[in-house]
Parts: sequence; C-alpha cells; structure tokens
Amino acid sequence: MKSQPVGVFARLGRVTSAALVAATTLVLVGATPAHADNGIRVEAHSTYTVDPAAGVVHVVVDLTLTNQKPSSGNFFYFWSEWGIPMLAGATNLSATRDGRPQSVRIESTDNADYTFGVIDLSPNLNYGNVARIQFRYDLSNQGPRTDATTRVNSAYTTFWAWPVGDDGLTSVRIRVPKAFEVDWLGNDLDEKNDGDHRLYESGAISDPNSWGVVFTGRNDRGLQGERFRSGKHVVIVRAWPDDPQWARFVTSTARRGLPKLERLVGLSWPSNDNLTITETINPYLYGYAGWYASDDNTIEIGDELDPEVVLHEISHIWFNDELFGDRWINEGFAQTYAALALDGSDEEVDDPKRPGKAAKGRQALVDWGNPSIRDDDDETRARELYGYDAAWYVIDTLTDEIGPNAMRKVIVAADSNQLSFLGDPEAETLKRDIDWERLLDLLVYVGGSEKAEQLFTDYVIDRGDNDDLRDRKKTHRDYQRLVQRGGTWSVPEVVREELTLWDFDDAADGMALSREILDLRDDIIATLAETGVELPKSFEEQYETADDDELASLRGKAEEYLAAAGDLAAAHAAAKSDKGMFATIGLWKNDYNDVLDKADERFEAGDGDKASAGADDVVATLDEADSVGQRRAGLAAATLIGLLLVVFGLRFLVRRRRRRKAVRVAAELAAAEARAAQLAEEVAATVDRSKTRGESLLEPPHPS
Ligand SMILES: [Zn+2]
Repeated sequence: MKSQPVGVFARLGRVTSAALVAATTLVLVGATPAHADNGIRVEAHSTYTVDPAAGVVHVVVDLTLTNQKPSSGNFFYFWSEWGIPMLAGATNLSATRDGRPQSVRIESTDNADYTFGVIDLSPNLNYGNVARIQFRYDLSNQGPRTDATTRVNSAYTTFWAWPVGDDGLTSVRIRVPKAFEVDWLGNDLDEKNDGDHRLYESGAISDPNSWGVVFTGRNDRGLQGERFRSGKHVVIVRAWPDDPQWARFVTSTARRGLPKLERLVGLSWPSNDNLTITETINPYLYGYAGWYASDDNTIEIGDELDPEVVLHEISHIWFNDELFGDRWINEGFAQTYAALALDGSDEEVDDPKRPGKAAKGRQALVDWGNPSIRDDDDETRARELYGYDAAWYVIDTLTDEIGPNAMRKVIVAADSNQLSFLGDPEAETLKRDIDWERLLDLLVYVGGSEKAEQLFTDYVIDRGDNDDLRDRKKTHRDYQRLVQRGGTWSVPEVVREELTLWDFDDAADGMALSREILDLRDDIIATLAETGVELPKSFEEQYETADDDELASLRGKAEEYLAAAGDLAAAHAAAKSDKGMFATIGLWKNDYNDVLDKADERFEAGDGDKASAGADDVVATLDEADSVGQRRAGLAAATLIGLLLVVFGLRFLVRRRRRRKAVRVAAELAAAEARAAQLAEEVAATVDRSKTRGESLLEPPHPS
C-alpha cells in the first residue's frame, strides 16, 4: 500500500452535523423564535438507486412533516418551506406534495460539498397539519480526478448516503444492480434481494446526526482493459470506461517501470501470474493511494495520475510478505525503489525527510503492524503516515549508504533465504521469515552497511530489543574470533544458523564446542607432524556443515582421531627407528610397511579405530622383530651348514665314483653348490641391509 497524505476518508466519511441541522426554515410570526426541532415531526426515508447506464444515482426522499407546535399567546407557528441537504453537483431536483408537483430551488451553503434542495410549502404547514413530500434528485458522475466524491460509470460507483429525518423516524435504502460487488464504510446495512437489484437497508436510525455511509460498488466487467507484455508476463490495465487517460498513463508508467525495477531489485518477476492493475478509488476511502494483493497479483489504485504510486504498488510484486516478514521493510523498499525507478526522469522524487523525535504517530517500526483499514481515528492515521515516512527514510538512507548494487545483493540473499553468516561451503539457506533481525545482519555482513545498527536502534526496534543488540554484539565478537581460530575452516553451519536466528545462547554453546574441536584438530596436526599423514579428508567438511547433533558427535570423533594420530605417530617412529640385525632378519619379507600405509589411508579416510588397530599391529610386529630374527638366523645357519655338508659329501663321492656316475653326480653337485652360494649371498645381502659391520657369524667355513 501507499498511504494518502491527505486523509480522503476524513473528508468523505464524516457527514457533518452542521450540514444536517440547518435544514428547516422557521417562519416566525411574532417576536420570539421557537426551536424547530421541538415543533415539527419529520419522518424521512431516503432511497438511493444506482443507474450505471445513465451515469447517475437516483435519490428519492419521502418525507412526512407534521407541525406539532401549537399557538402560544400571540404566536402561532407554521412552515413555509422545507429543505434537505444534497451533495454538491446534485441535478434534476424535483418535488411533489401529496402527489402534486411543487416548485423547488437549489441553495448553496458555506460548505462546498453540500447544497440544499428547497421546496416551497404552499399552503404553509400550520399547526396539526401533515405534508407528504417527495424529493427527487440525481447524483451525477463527477468524473475522474475531481474532488467531489460521486463516481457512477458502468464499472464503478461511489457516493455518500445519509438520513434526513428525526431520531428513530428515518431510514436509508440503497439499490444496486446485482452485477455490482459492493462495499461501504460507516454504519451497518442489511442486504436483501430486490429483483435484478440488491437492496441495502439501514432500518430505523436512532441517531441520524452520526449516521452515514460511503457506498462503493464495482462491476469489473465494465472496465476497459488494455494489455501489454513485459518479459514473460502480461500486464492488464483496467480503467473506467470514462477514463482512457488513466489507462494510457498507467500503461506507459508500468511498461517503462517494470524492467527498471526488475534490474534494480535483482530478482526476476517472482510469480507466474500476470499482473492486473485496476482503477478504483476504494483505497482513497481508507486513506490509501493504492494497494497490492499478492494472492492474485492485483494492484488497485485511484484515479490520480501519480507515477510514484504506480511504481510503489508495482514494486510490491517483489516486496511483499513472501520476501520480508515485517511490513515496514516491504513498504520502505517499495517506496525507495519506486523513487529509484523515477531517478533521471521528469518525475524525480525528493529524498525522504528524517522523522523527528516528536513526530506525530511515532512508534518503533517493528510495532507498525498491518493496518485495520476500517480504523479511521486520528491516532491510527498518524501512525500510518509515520510508518510510511520512517520506513522509507530508513531503507532510503541505507540504500544511499551502500549503493543499489550492494543492496541488490542483500535483497537476493534475503530472497534465497541465505544464512546471514557464510562459510566456504556453498551458501546455505534457512527458510524462515526474513524479519528485521535477519535483515540487519544481511545489511551488515552482505551489504557492508555501517549505519544499519544505529538506524535500527533509532527507528526500528523497541527499547527492549537493545538487550538483544548487546548480546548480538558480544556473540558476533566471539564469532569473529572463531573465524580467525578456524583458519581455512569456516564456522559450523549450526552455529551460523543460530547466529542467523539470533539464538545467541545456543550459538555460544556451539562455538564453545567448535573451539574444543579446533583444539583437538590442532593437537592432531601436531601429533602427526613427523608422519606425513594428513587430517581425515572429511573432517573439515564435517565440521563446517555440522548440525547440532553432528557437532556433538564430531567432538567424540575428533578424540578418536587424536588417539589414532598418537598410535600412527608411534608406529611411524618405530618403523623409522634403527633396527638390530636380528630385527632386520625378523622383518625380512615382512609387509609391516604396507600395514602402516593402510593404517595411514584408513586414518585419512576417517576411520580412526581401524587406523589405530593397524598402527598397533605395526608396533607389535616391530617389537617382536628381534626375537623372530634370532629364530630365523639360527635356522638359516643350520640350513647352510647342512648344505655345505652335502657339498662336501658329494665331492667326496665324485672322487670315489668318478667313473660310473660322473655325469649325474656332477649335476647334483653343481645344483647343491649353486643353492649354497645363493643362500650365502642372501644371508650376506640381509646382513648388508642391516648395516651391521664386521664379520658375519654366518660366514660359511671355507672347505679345504
Ligand atoms: Zn505499499
């Protein structure tokens, strides 16, 4: 909505008693005037019939006047004429008395809104006499953009209706063709069918001086539609049949404004619906220039040709409760962006003024709720006007500060429900109303505003919210420290979510847990320093994306990692350490290095327990290597000695049995010698690998 600075409703809605009371002309015979209301009984029933084809409302007032003022002394009282108040612009006035036509005239009054229709009573209405009078006149269409209220065309009607008789003796009836959908402001009316019309009846009115309605009816089929394309959407402009100028104006303003607004806002048209803009002065009756209904993407605006109003309402396509949860935010943006869209045109809008501390209707903008449009008291009006002005001032000042480009980022972040605090994972979202708290953080952390906090303190929040702002400040300082502390690790999502929602207690708990995990992370890194083993690959991501439960269990996991890191460090140290000769022999052809590699891999893959088990195996293997080596060494020596004996034995045989089996035995001898040599070589190589110096105990005895 956009408010009307001039309270149109105030002008229309109050039928002033001043206009109603001076309705009689008392003709005094003698010296002392008498009070008219004491002397005459006035029964009056008014019927208003809407005639769209003729462009008028026919008014019929049936009066029964009875002179109840008896003569007194030398005075006797009679009435020579009678008048009724009519809206200015009333035409076709006529009157009858007891069915006979009478002469009538129209008299102006001090108030430009009213005239009087006056009938000559001839003969005069003397004491005890009764006159049955019928007034007829028409309220004619005053046309668009005129001050007078009355509008009657085939698509729309509005007019005032009021009673003109005594307390309890008067009534109002309004007849409207059924094609019209009606609404009214003011007193209650009962609805009835009346052929092809509907009848709205007041019944007997006990206090006519305070009774009045502003009646409206619309028949949208009577509107003249124009349509145009804007991108993928169709915009339908529906004007009164007698107002093609409005249709042209709104069409050209919307056609130019829509793409401009789309660029400024940074979001494409959010709905698939077409947009309908309808001419009606219904909003004026409630003190507004126009309004936007998001459920059917419909704008209704009055007949004034005001581009700011048109663009304000159009910008509500974006700025409505789908985007921001607080009314003031949407209104502030709608007005700021309407003005931005007019920048550089002939219709430039001046900057809003800073609302004063003592401004009428001043309130914290968070308390500026949705209006009850039927509340038309002065206080409500003042609060409405202040709300629009202050909301515009705050958003306009911020947009000036950070510029439309940064503001576009804020709007886009709000639209995508982005967390106010981002890490290095892709921007996370949280679908919850973007209220003033989230907007403040987005302005500061996405838009880079430095004025937002002070502006919000001055205009937006309740005094009670100051505590929240203090908590926010402290928690944000802790957050910044955690960001530093994390280095390349951004703060866990759950913490950033709690900060976004201003759950400062939970955020503080989450940050304490985060710090513990980071301590463990650093301990793990230090523990693994000599191993070349990296942190588990998923650790960082698990930390950054943790929700509440995951963060708590990640702390346990980090402890498991630290334990595994200790085991791996021990295994790596053991594997690297110098080994004695027997250990070397014990480890000959052992795959402990593979086991350690596997344990490293398991660790990096995030399985601390299996990594620990592997590391422990390696340590155990290395611990046992010495004794295994000794056993193997003994065995190898015995085997070698055995083989050498075979060689000796065979040579002996060769000498003895050279003739017979020389060839076969020679072959066996060669194989045995080769095997002994290979074994001796392997033993020598192993001994060499073990880097032991000096003579090996395994050196074979030289055969002579
Ligand atoms: Zn608005």
